[in-house]
Amino acid sequence: MRKFVFVTGGVLSGLGKGVVTASIGLLLKQSGYRVSLQKIDPYVNIDAGTMNPYEHGEVFVTDDGKETDLDIGRYERFLDENLSARNYATTGQVYWSVIRQERAGSFLGKTVQVIPHITDEIKKLIQRPLEDCAAEIAVVEIGGTVGDIESLPFLEALRQLKDELPADDTFFVHLTLLPQMSSTDELKTKPTQHSVKELRGIGIQPDAIVARAERSIPADVRRKIALFCDVPETNVIEDIDQFSIYDVPLVIQREGLHAAVSTGLKLPPRMPDMGPWSRRVEKLRHPSRRVRIAIVGKYIELRDSYISIHEALIHAGIHCEVGIDPLWVSAESVDEHGPERYLSDVDGILIPGGFGDRGVDGKVEAVSYARTNGIPFFGICLGLQCAAIEFARNRLGMKSANSSEFDSETPHPVIDLMETQSELRDKGGTMRLGAYPAVLAPDSISVSCYKTPEISERHRHRYEFNTAYREAFSSAGFHVTGASPDGRLVEILELEDHPWFVGVQFHPEFKSRFVNPHPLFVGFVQACLERHCC
Ligand code: GLN
Repeated sequence: MRKFVFVTGGVLSGLGKGVVTASIGLLLKQSGYRVSLQKIDPYVNIDAGTMNPYEHGEVFVTDDGKETDLDIGRYERFLDENLSARNYATTGQVYWSVIRQERAGSFLGKTVQVIPHITDEIKKLIQRPLEDCAAEIAVVEIGGTVGDIESLPFLEALRQLKDELPADDTFFVHLTLLPQMSSTDELKTKPTQHSVKELRGIGIQPDAIVARAERSIPADVRRKIALFCDVPETNVIEDIDQFSIYDVPLVIQREGLHAAVSTGLKLPPRMPDMGPWSRRVEKLRHPSRRVRIAIVGKYIELRDSYISIHEALIHAGIHCEVGIDPLWVSAESVDEHGPERYLSDVDGILIPGGFGDRGVDGKVEAVSYARTNGIPFFGICLGLQCAAIEFARNRLGMKSANSSEFDSETPHPVIDLMETQSELRDKGGTMRLGAYPAVLAPDSISVSCYKTPEISERHRHRYEFNTAYREAFSSAGFHVTGASPDGRLVEILELEDHPWFVGVQFHPEFKSRFVNPHPLFVGFVQACLERHCC
């Protein structure tokens, strides 16, 4: 069996297509199908690695080292499966591949054109996950909004695929918005009608409309959408704001989207097993206590920049039955006004990854505050690097210690460029990326969290802890408790005589799942809870 669900978006961006796509995938998986989720981004960038988090949110990294859009992270968190480079494609990647084939003479003298060469390449990319991972159903999200020039070749490829495959092998879901006029309190359907018209102009008739709205859609509005968009009334699915994104699979199932997809693809009727998922959603709604965790970062105005960290805290919170109150603190403000003003009543401090020196001094001050006040501290990638800089400066007396990323002349480069990085010129896809194994020290906080001495975690960085300082750090109580199997790369540092102070060079947040929280986040939240209660 090889079937496709395509998810397109209309009216405006940011309606939550990724959540709807992940939810459809989860419902199909829980019905017993092997599912693959894929995102197609119409950007010309080859991958998300060179994109600014301010514009596109976090760059997510897969085990095989692909730098992807944050929706891939969402898919993994919902499906509880590792995805890979084949689950993410961009216009840049499509053209790159076609141009390489053209240079190799593979088109035998033909004129290379958008149709059929680019669309053929897109069709190949879309079908690849089904072949490579023996999936039965591929749920494919097309980034952007119908009507964008850049998404046209992708929609054309979907149209062709629909015509090439049997009618019950494809199902089109179109996500739109029903804006509400405050003067009349009415939900307006015209933008939905227009975006469906646009889609039909390309030759695609949606099979279901998922309509985002601020309130429940009245029956007459539902009828109107069904009539104007030519879909059965049962296939008009209401998607109103929920307590959390994890409610969405349950809501769209109740609303009948799962049944509509199953009928459209002629799948035998099966009830998805959403029991464990629903129980966690309940726990998320009713925590018995709450902890306040400061996230000291550079991109705090745009929460999507730290989306995996936020979700990982939530997952761990569900496990510990605590609600998380995140406090987003600007590192530059800490530098300007001092840490006391922002961090005096928090239960834990987390410093996430980042690039560039803006805000680093504030992060170092936040580390110092956590270290000297016994506040649970979790440093991730740049967060670990800031912890090392702070320790060298304030505990080992190396006043001008730094990372060579921020000061190439520092006499104490406690964080330094990896050997393999010094000759590289290209920025895209050249960091230490993806999953690497590490070995944990016995009796460490980390091994007590993971409950195994061998782990594998995902990376995205150029700089590393400089092992020349390992002895000096250790003799003052900051120990390497995780390293690469050959011992050359430092992966984890832990401080002794502190309730919970852990820095990791990798990104544990990329491996946390709704039903399977990350052990280090669980350990950190537990430590925050202990501080809160004492
Ligand atoms: N800028 C640092 C490096 O490249 C940290 C990267 C990160 O936090 N992801 O090593």
